[in-house]
Amino acid sequence: MSIEKQCIICRKTKDNFNDEHVIPDSILGYYHIYSVCYDCNSLMGKNIDCKLTNHKLIELYRYTNGLRGKSGKLPNPFKGDHTMKDDPEQGVRLDLNADGIPVPHFIYRSLSTPGKLQFAIDAKDRNKKDLIIKKLLDRNNLTNDQVTFAESKIVDENPIISGEFKIDFIEFRLAILKIAYEFCVDMCPQYINDTKALEISQILLNADISKMKSSLHFFGDGFNDTIFSAFGKFIDYKNENHYLILTNQQAGKLVCYVNLFDIFHLGIEMSNEKIKVPGKIIIGKNDIQRKMFQTYNIYELAENISRNGNYEFHYEFSSEAEFEQFSLNELRKDFNFFSINGIIPLFDSAGNIKYDDIEQKVSTVEFSNLDGDNTLNTYSMNENLYVRHMPINKLFKVIAIKRKAFPGTKV
Ligand SMILES: [Zn+2]
Repeated sequence: MSIEKQCIICRKTKDNFNDEHVIPDSILGYYHIYSVCYDCNSLMGKNIDCKLTNHKLIELYRYTNGLRGKSGKLPNPFKGDHTMKDDPEQGVRLDLNADGIPVPHFIYRSLSTPGKLQFAIDAKDRNKKDLIIKKLLDRNNLTNDQVTFAESKIVDENPIISGEFKIDFIEFRLAILKIAYEFCVDMCPQYINDTKALEISQILLNADISKMKSSLHFFGDGFNDTIFSAFGKFIDYKNENHYLILTNQQAGKLVCYVNLFDIFHLGIEMSNEKIKVPGKIIIGKNDIQRKMFQTYNIYELAENISRNGNYEFHYEFSSEAEFEQFSLNELRKDFNFFSINGIIPLFDSAGNIKYDDIEQKVSTVEFSNLDGDNTLNTYSMNENLYVRHMPINKLFKVIAIKRKAFPGTKV
């Protein structure tokens, strides 16, 4: 039985949907959605994803880091038509051998002159020589004794090859736009009805680069990573993961940031409106080690980062407004716990210091459980205690303290 629903790209009601890889397979994407129809799915692969997967920087990155695609293949960044430096007429191909080392391969070339048939082939193609000769003879109605053959070009140990790399600075944005759009619709389903969402789905459907350039606003040129520095406290960029971040800018517009292999960094204004993002900010992590895509919202992120050295606090909030104030403060670059000489005190509800040092408290309460591994102990508070958050200088009630043997990790 097939179910009819709307395709998020062509927006037609369809009953034939395919497994859409939001992040392409060949860059090890593990994020799949099922809201793109069969036809659009193949269009996306053919016209959009390839702008990224065939990008020279991606090929070079995967090649130098030995990142094989899911099919096990290493990309060949040296593919294309090259020539010998000392013989610009002689074409050379660079094939990768089983170990991924580029091996030059001379391309068959006719060197015929009037009355004389001659050609050059790669030494590795010797076994094809008879076939080539036969073809040449047949085509020219000649017999063997009327022609001269030259098998030239024994490959040098270190041939000097001329070639060129073409690096695209614009079109790959279309592929990043597709990732951002699909992520937005998946995370905020009401986004599909947004005016800009409609425009973006049209751009993707038609692979319309000029429309993309004229009607969309990008943050960064695609390579500059400073647009991601604000998220540095949550994200560990020193790895091969991809990150997608969805948030409303302070100006109130929905923006999606895409970071691929820490090579491409692009922000795209996805709407002129503020769109309700569940959990205010969503970070999607394509985890190459764990072979999965996982999302974290602000609540989970705040929990991840509300650590100071070896402590992680669990809070109780009296209202959603208090929680929001807390979360927004934790996202600030200048967020910190109030401390004296690096030591965090615990306060009572009136704002007086009750314990000069957390350790004075945790040493008096039994830890309540071991959390998975025994590197983390949880101390539940048996009285009302608060920590002071800076720079807003506000007390938040702590109900438990986790003490870690190791500082927390980023996503
Ligand atoms: Zn469609």
